[in-house]
Amino acid sequence: MRLSRMGAVASAAVLTAALAACGSSEKTVDQQAGAGANNEGALIGVTMPTRSSERWISDGDNLKKQLEALGYKVDLQYAEDKIPTQTQQLDNQITKGAKLLIIASIDGTAITTQLENAKANKIPVIAYDRLIRESPNVDYYATFDNFKVGVQQATSLLTGLKVLKADGSAGDAKGPFNIELFAGSPDDNNATFFFNGAMSVLQPKIDDGTLVVKSKQTDFKTVAILRWQAKTAQDRMENLLTSTYRGGAKVDGVLSPYDGLSIGILSALKSNGYGTAAQPWPIVTGQDAEQASVKSILRGEQYSTIYKDTRELAKTTVSMADAVLKGQQPETNNTKDYDNGVKVVPSMLLESVIVDKSNYKKELVDSGYYTEAQLK
Ligand code: BGC
Repeated sequence: MRLSRMGAVASAAVLTAALAACGSSEKTVDQQAGAGANNEGALIGVTMPTRSSERWISDGDNLKKQLEALGYKVDLQYAEDKIPTQTQQLDNQITKGAKLLIIASIDGTAITTQLENAKANKIPVIAYDRLIRESPNVDYYATFDNFKVGVQQATSLLTGLKVLKADGSAGDAKGPFNIELFAGSPDDNNATFFFNGAMSVLQPKIDDGTLVVKSKQTDFKTVAILRWQAKTAQDRMENLLTSTYRGGAKVDGVLSPYDGLSIGILSALKSNGYGTAAQPWPIVTGQDAEQASVKSILRGEQYSTIYKDTRELAKTTVSMADAVLKGQQPETNNTKDYDNGVKVVPSMLLESVIVDKSNYKKELVDSGYYTEAQLK
């Protein structure tokens, strides 16, 4: 009797799991922490790196708004790029009883202890935009296709130089063009992906002599800008102009991985006489479609940016979080590229778009990301 009852319970459990699995391939019963519990109205901890860049403000706002719309409570924190502040915020969120953490890390290796603590408390972790490295305690990752972002930055640099036409076919310009390279913060996993993506396009053009990195500074460590600081990029550009371009050679292009850095780079160029009829702006790339940089593009200073719709990233992350808290398995579309040093983190990658003067209206205004008035 007892045995058969247990059998019935067991087969009911199997059936439930099987039914859940049949309902949708994305909704198999998750074995993760957090599953099964009643998490309605639960507290979710959201930590963002800094308020100094517009994109993270939008990310935080979008996440909060969308999570609250599903009835969750949200503790949203910014760490102003200070690692001890971020670790403390995570400690606090765990103490306050957060049931899930969404983390855009500053240094992807610096929060291992907090993650161990999260794991011990069965709190699932979603890495937001930036991969959290060297920890087994990261459940999912929501981001853009970061390698492709780099490919897009380099492609747009070549289009701006007219080495490529807008349709991607060979353009009329043959060079040689002088370019300089910048990369993002070395502790941000994305920075390497952006740089490698960009170099996959630029290296063949360097090898065939179309492009010349006149300073010879081409390795990631040398060109990386710690914490994505505009001032550091400005200083490095100033130094390059003094050390390499004093003899009269001109900079034709700059690979910049982020709008904030582009602003610093443009300002160094300006104080060295660029941006005039006699000495036009070089082609300078960017990323994030930040308002100030889109305006700069419209004034003909920065050439392009990469638009990553943070509303979409928030939406993806929120549905991941909601699925995990309901004991379901969230949708992912990449289970091979984001090895964090300990495990490959199941990821959802979104698509980004090159934006320049020719398509800003369609991509940024018609999509409702900005109003035309915001870009005046
Ligand atoms: C993000 C970029 C951003 C950069 C600087 C990266 O991790 O993916 O969108 O430009 O950080 O904030």
